Amino acid sequence: MKMRIAVFCSLLAVLTAGLSVGQQKSPVTAIKAGRLIDPETGTAAANQVILIEGEKITGVGSNLAIPSGAMVIDLSQLTVLPGLVDAHTHMAITYKEQPENNYYYLTYITDSTPLRAIQAASNGMQLLNSGFTVVRDVGNNALYADAALRQAIEQGWLPGPTVIPSGPMIGSTGGQFWPTPEMYKYHNIMFPEYIDANSPDEIVRAVRENMLFGARTIKLCIDCKPWGYSVDDIKLAIREAATGGCKVEGHVQTADGAQRAIDAGVYIIAHNNALTPEHHRQMAEKGIILAGTDTPFTPYRGSEAAFKRTVANLRDAWKKKVLLTFSTDFDYWNERMKDPKTGEWLTRGELTINFLETWKAAGIPQADILRAMTINGYKAADIISQRGPIKPGFFADIIAVPGNPLGDIDALRNVQFVMKNGMVFKKDGVMTPEKFFHPGPVKTPSGRWSR
Ligand SMILES: [Zn+2]
Repeated sequence: MKMRIAVFCSLLAVLTAGLSVGQQKSPVTAIKAGRLIDPETGTAAANQVILIEGEKITGVGSNLAIPSGAMVIDLSQLTVLPGLVDAHTHMAITYKEQPENNYYYLTYITDSTPLRAIQAASNGMQLLNSGFTVVRDVGNNALYADAALRQAIEQGWLPGPTVIPSGPMIGSTGGQFWPTPEMYKYHNIMFPEYIDANSPDEIVRAVRENMLFGARTIKLCIDCKPWGYSVDDIKLAIREAATGGCKVEGHVQTADGAQRAIDAGVYIIAHNNALTPEHHRQMAEKGIILAGTDTPFTPYRGSEAAFKRTVANLRDAWKKKVLLTFSTDFDYWNERMKDPKTGEWLTRGELTINFLETWKAAGIPQADILRAMTINGYKAADIISQRGPIKPGFFADIIAVPGNPLGDIDALRNVQFVMKNGMVFKKDGVMTPEKFFHPGPVKTPSGRWSR
């Protein structure tokens, strides 16, 4: 026994020594913020210092001493705030006018999982460049390309936002597809775009499989078919998801489906189109989050009539005090996605931030828009205890813009600085991602199941 204790003690000593060496190596970074926004309260404080050690924030205040040897980042001419969140998007699918006529059913046939995974990696970097440090990627992402991207980013292979992957959407027979009998029965055409799960046993199996393969949230197709999920089915999925620490998002496209999702108590409802003012009232009462996916009317997408409905629905949800997130449902591309002034392609990040048009048209106050894009997004991602607030103990996911988004939300279109996990991805408006790239998995992921 004594021998064992001695071995244990020396092991402990080695471990402790390793730890202190690691701690010594963590460089201190000090950000001088001209203005620091707290999106929770919608207020800003002038001339703040943010201290960062390794991946996390260690201090915030106006009178903080900057330790000697600290790397100082001067953002005294800028407004500093937490990174932004797209609470509902699809990074690993890009349907096009040619050749598939915007029919994603065909994209799934023509674009391989590896190709879609690479698209997702590029989309992730483009989103990070526009200040999106967290992205919920909820379905239609090939064979777990979303989970693979999260893992690759965690391991240090490439820069990207914190990805909250759902894996394939779980639905009753057919998912969102209408396949032929032979493709369905003999070629299993549903998978991996959807997991068919009808009986309680199948629902439990599907939820467990997604969590096994890396999902951090569970996406259910509530009413993609008339034989969608009952309140009991949805409750079962919620209970099972909770065993793996996951919350459930319900895709909703009918009023009946919305009511079932609300009655079952899903965490998030995706898509605002089918929701009525009464649904909004109930969602606010129950604290159900809305990922409305509020598409603006632009030369590359939408119609005026659809936009009017979208704006009215978003405004009603806001008036009813539903917990709103900024969400896009982005999954398409066409030749018109160019800056009209320069003729240059718009990036995925610029296209995403352009959803501000809907929020402005709905007359939502800037502080509320900012809360939807940050704090509420972190809640939707279920990581608010770790990321989001610029406070000691939280991961350093920090962006900076000229001007003041609390007075002019369009200031967010001009992100000059991006830090993710304490590492600088963009500075002075220029991407400097070199430090994110590594020749191997330099960071061991915390494990698929740990939060
Ligand atoms: Zn979607």
